[in-house]
Parts: sequence; C-alpha cells; structure tokens
Amino acid sequence: MTTPASPCRGDGTRRQWLKAAGTASAGAVALAATAPVRARIRTSARIVIAGSGLGGLAVASRLGALLDGATITIVDAKREHHYQPGFTLVATGVWPVDKVRDTNAAYLPDNVQWVQEMVAGFDPAANVVVTAAGRRIAYDYLVVATGLHLDYAQIAGMDVAAIGTNGLASVYASPQAAAATWSALDAFRAKGGHAVMTLPAGPLKCAGAPLKMTFMVADRLKQAGTLAASKIDFHTGLPADTVFGVKVVNDAVLTRWKTLGVHAHYLSKLVGVDIGARRATFATPEGERSTVDYDFLHVVPPMRAPDVVKASDLAWKEGPFAPGGWLEVDKATLQHRRYPNVFGIGDINGTPRGKTAATVKKSAPVVAGNLAALIAGRPMTETFDGYTSCPLIVREGSAMLIEFDYEGRLTPSLPMIEPLQESYLAWLMKVRMLKPAYVAVLKGRV
Ligand SMILES: Cc1cc2nc3c(=O)[nH]c(=O)nc-3n(C[C@H](O)[C@H](O)[C@H](O)COP(=O)(O)OP(=O)(O)OC[C@H]3O[C@@H](n4cnc5c(N)ncnc54)[C@H](O)[C@@H]3O)c2cc1C
Repeated sequence: MTTPASPCRGDGTRRQWLKAAGTASAGAVALAATAPVRARIRTSARIVIAGSGLGGLAVASRLGALLDGATITIVDAKREHHYQPGFTLVATGVWPVDKVRDTNAAYLPDNVQWVQEMVAGFDPAANVVVTAAGRRIAYDYLVVATGLHLDYAQIAGMDVAAIGTNGLASVYASPQAAAATWSALDAFRAKGGHAVMTLPAGPLKCAGAPLKMTFMVADRLKQAGTLAASKIDFHTGLPADTVFGVKVVNDAVLTRWKTLGVHAHYLSKLVGVDIGARRATFATPEGERSTVDYDFLHVVPPMRAPDVVKASDLAWKEGPFAPGGWLEVDKATLQHRRYPNVFGIGDINGTPRGKTAATVKKSAPVVAGNLAALIAGRPMTETFDGYTSCPLIVREGSAMLIEFDYEGRLTPSLPMIEPLQESYLAWLMKVRMLKPAYVAVLKGRV
C-alpha cells in the first residue's frame, strides 16, 4: 500500500484544497437541510424493485420516506454490497480490498422486504416477476435496477478465476479481481515490460475506469523506475482518436498519453487471450486478426443487459440500445416507454451515457419522485439530464473531476474544480469524499 506523495500542484496549497473540500461538503449538507418537506403519500401500492445494488437501495430508501403504507419488496440473491467506484483504487494499490466490501443488510431500509433470490423472468403484461425458485411476485409498480452483465464470455480463452496470474488483470469483475489485479500490477512494475490495456466499443459502466487504469499503470511503472524500459499499448474497439465519449475529455486524455508514451490502437477489439502463453488476439471490424505478446494485460469485457432483462419485453426492441438488450426507458422521466408502471434506475437503463454511481445519485430522486407522483395521481415533474461523473485519476495524488450530461456538455458542480485540470482536490474527493457520499445515496439522504 502506498500513500499520495507530494500531491499539491497548480494554483493551490494542500491546506487551501482541504479548506475548499470542507466548503464543498458544507454546501452539500446545507442543500440537504433546505430541501422541501412534503407529506407522505398514503397508499397500499405493491412495489417490486429488482436488484439491490446502489440504484435499487437508493430508490427503496427514497420510496420508504415518500410513501406511507406501500409494500416495497427488493428481489436480489446477492448479500454482499460492493462499493464499485473503489475497485480502481484497490486494483492500483491505493486501498485495501476490505474498503469496498459490505453487506446489503446494512443498508436495507426497515420498511422494505427482501426476497433473497434472483429474478428469473419479467412478465410486465401480467405485472409479475418470477424468481429463480419459481415464485411469482405480483406488483402494481416495478423498478428495474439489475445493473449490467460483464460479458467476459465474448473473449475466447478468458478465465475470470485466473485474474492475478500470468500478468492477467481486470478491475471490473469483483473486489477479489481488483485485488488480484493489484498483485499482477505490483509484480509487473518491478521489472516493467509490455503492458496491453483494452477498451471495447459499446456502453460501459464507468467508461473512465479503463483510462484510469492506464494512467495508473504508467504511474506505478514511473515510481518503480521501469517506465522507460516499458511499452504501454492501449487497444480499443472505438474509431480513430477516440478513447472517451466526450470530445474535450478525450482530447485531454490523448494529449497526456502522448507525453507518457501510451500508444493507442483503434478499431482493435480484444477477442481472445491465451493466458498461459501471455498472448492476446485482437480483431478489426472487418475480422482481420493480429496477436500480441504481453507481460501485463488489462481486460475490459464488453457489457450488456443481464439475460433476464434482454430476453424480456422490457428491453428496447429497435434502435441503438436493442442489441445490448437495455431497458427501454424515457431518458428524461426514466419511466418505461411502453409499460408506464415500470421505471429503471442505474446501469440497466438504455439511455445515452449515464452508467456511474453519480448518475444514480442524481436520478434516484427522479425515479422515486415520479413514481410517487404517479401513485398519488399527480403529474410527473422530475426530469433527468443524464448527469454522469467520474474522477479520472491521472497519477497517484492527482485526478480530473469530469462531469457531463446526455449531450456531452461539461457540467462542473464545484466552482473550485476546473473540469479538465488535474488537481489534488479531485484526487481527495475520489479517495476520501465519494464513499461517504455513496453511502448517503444508498440511504436516500442526498
Ligand atoms: C471498476 C469500476 C469503477 C467505477 N468507478 C466509478 C466512479 O469512479 N464513479 C462513479 O460514479 N461510478 C463508478 N462506477 C460505476 C458504479 O459503480 C455503477 O454505475 C453503479 O454501481 C450502478 O448501480 P446499479 O444499481 O445500476 O448496479 P449495481 O450496483 O451493479 O447493482 C446491481 C444489482 O442487481 C442485482 N441483480 C442482477 N441481476 C439480477 C436479477 N436477475 N434479479 C435480481 N437482482 C439482480 C445484482 O446482484 C446487484 O446487486 C464504477 C464501476 C466499476 C465496476
């Protein structure tokens, strides 16, 4: 484990940054304290929430506070709760793995029932979900919060259990995979060599994570004195000069990578890996294949909706979100476009951008508020602008806080943080302030 080394730079001292951070938290608390209070809505509605990750728990907490008398049932077999935004910190040796593991029970609101099974089928025409054990749960309103599926199976030879061995790394799979990724990176940095980083085309949760991993691989090599003797290649399925969906951020990253000596390869999708031989296979859209030997490989899997959503009538049937089977919601109200008693929250939503915990923070009040209005027979007034945010780590002790909306417009929320300028404050937010904020979202407090 390491601690940030001399992180102050630019136009402020460490003390000024800390003061600014304090002002930011105080502002957030003040905002929460002045939020309007409305009488709880009396209802006997039956609400089912599929998924108890960040989105499911955040909406459950908010609905519990807005409604009086509703039966709220969360369906999810998973008992551990993972603070996924911390995975990159575990995978790069900044945090111990314990910091990202918790129990779901700790965050389940008192007035919510928990069915500890997976949803095996959605029948929205009958207003029923069917669990893996065959139990049929009827609802008046449904919130889909299943997150997404990491499709490692699309990469021939990939074995998630082998992460951490033979230079194989992947931050996404689990806390264990993140910790094993750090073992692989820690061993690699001692000698250096050929690092191969990957990024598939298509929607990703925290699309900045593959970029953060690349920056941190370079930084760890630099700290170990092995960067000059190493080569870092970044292969992406995206078109030329594209590694991120927001142009100004993309360009800022590519400029930094040029300085660091990271070589980007475009329209180059990871399709196979020979873990024992440390050899990766890439393909162009035309199907032309090439193989690359590596010492360290960071695998980012393609992502799609879980089968249970993809195969259901709740998925988009046409358009750009249909192939991934994403949930067909209106991007502003987050209400299903064909089943008005169904809403979506979090990574499962078939909307442009918006697969981050920060998205859930801003959209949980929209989903809960609109659902409560629907129950009360009032017009739905809440709208979501696609807010997506990601502290893009550029080295240990420094990050850029990137915030944007559906249109890719930058939407900075803290006046003291310039979006494209790296700072110690943005790093501090990532390592110290965002986890407490995440927990507050789980509890429906912000
Ligand atoms: C490596 C990494 C780095 C990240 N970095 C950041 C960051 O810096 N900033 C940021 O804001 N966000 C970040 N994120 C993204 C953030 O963690 C997710 O966007 C957020 O957790 C989404 O919440 P969710 O509720 O949609 O999905 P999840 O939190 O993944 O929860 C989904 C839940 O649904 C359950 N489920 C799945 N299938 C079913 C089923 N059939 N029936 C019932 N339940 C089911 C699962 O068991 C799980 O509990 C990162 C994510 C990763 C992996």
